[in-house]
Amino acid sequence: MSEKSTRRKVALVTGANKGIGRGVAEQLAALGMTVVIGARDPERGEEAAAAVRASGGDAHAVTLDVTDQATVQEAAKQVEKRFGRLDVLVNNAGITGSGRVSPEDAHDQVPSSVDLDMVRAVFETNVLGVIGVTNAMLPLLRRSPAPRVVNVSSHAASLTLTSDPDGPFTALLPSAAYSPSKTALTALTVQYANELRRDGILVNAVAPGFVGTDSNNHTGVLTVSQGAAVVVRLATLGTDGPTGGFFGEGGPVPW
Ligand code: NAP
Repeated sequence: MSEKSTRRKVALVTGANKGIGRGVAEQLAALGMTVVIGARDPERGEEAAAAVRASGGDAHAVTLDVTDQATVQEAAKQVEKRFGRLDVLVNNAGITGSGRVSPEDAHDQVPSSVDLDMVRAVFETNVLGVIGVTNAMLPLLRRSPAPRVVNVSSHAASLTLTSDPDGPFTALLPSAAYSPSKTALTALTVQYANELRRDGILVNAVAPGFVGTDSNNHTGVLTVSQGAAVVVRLATLGTDGPTGGFFGEGGPVPW
C-alpha cells in the first residue's frame, strides 16, 4: 500500500521534538496514527521521529518553524505529497517569552514595563503562527473524513480564572505577553470552529495543566504524558464531539 492511500490517520504536531508536543506525538502514534513531527530544527525533529519509530510507531519529521511561512508551506507540500491528506492538526508549538518561569524572571512580563519586542515574538509564535499553519493545512484537512484541530492553550488564557482576585492565578507571575497570547488563541479557536462547523471540522482549545517541561524549567507538577493525554482526547473526538470548546483534564475550562 502506498503511503498516499494509507488507511492510518495522519496527524501533524507542531513543536513535537520535545515537551508536550512530543508526548502527544508518542501517544497518537501508539494509537496507530502516522505522526508527522513538526520541528524547527531538522536534526531534533529527526531524532524525535526516530525515537517514536523505535517504539513501534510510524513517524516522519518535517521542518516547520511556525513563524516562517516558507517552511510552513513546504511542510504542507511534503504532507500532501507523502500522504495526500491530514486528519489531525495539533497546534502545539509555543513560547512563554520569558527566559524561564521563575521569581527572578518576574519582571519580564509586568505589563507596565514589558518589552514590546518580546510581546511581538510571543504573539507571532502563539497566535499568528497558529493561523499560518492552520490555513496552510486546511486544504489537506478538508480531504479527511473526520478532521480535528487542537490548539494548545493554557489555563492562563482564561479571563475568568485570571481576573479572580481570590483565585490561584493572582499569585502567578504577571503575564503581559504569554497569558494574553493564549487568550487570543482560545478566541481564535472559536472563530475557526464557527467557520468550519458546517464542514465537519472540529476545532477545540486545550489547557494541558502545569506540566514539567523546558518552558517552566521543569517546575510543572504534571508529567508530559499526563499533559498530552487531554490533547490526544480532543484530537481523537468522535463525530458527535464538541467544537469551539476549551477543555482541560477535568472538563470545560471557563473562558
Ligand atoms: P517546550 O518543552 O518548551 O516545547 C515547546 C515546543 O515548541 C518545542 O518543540 C519548541 O521547539 C517549539 N517551538 C517554539 N517556537 C517554535 C516555532 N517558532 N516553530 C516551531 N516550533 C516552535 O514547552 P511545552 O511546555 O511542551 O509547551 C508546549 C505547548 O503547551 C505550548 O504551546 C505551551 O504554551 C503550552 N502549555 C504548556 C504548559 C506547561 O505547563 N508546560 C501549560 C499550558 C500550556 P524548540 O525545541 O526548537 O525550541
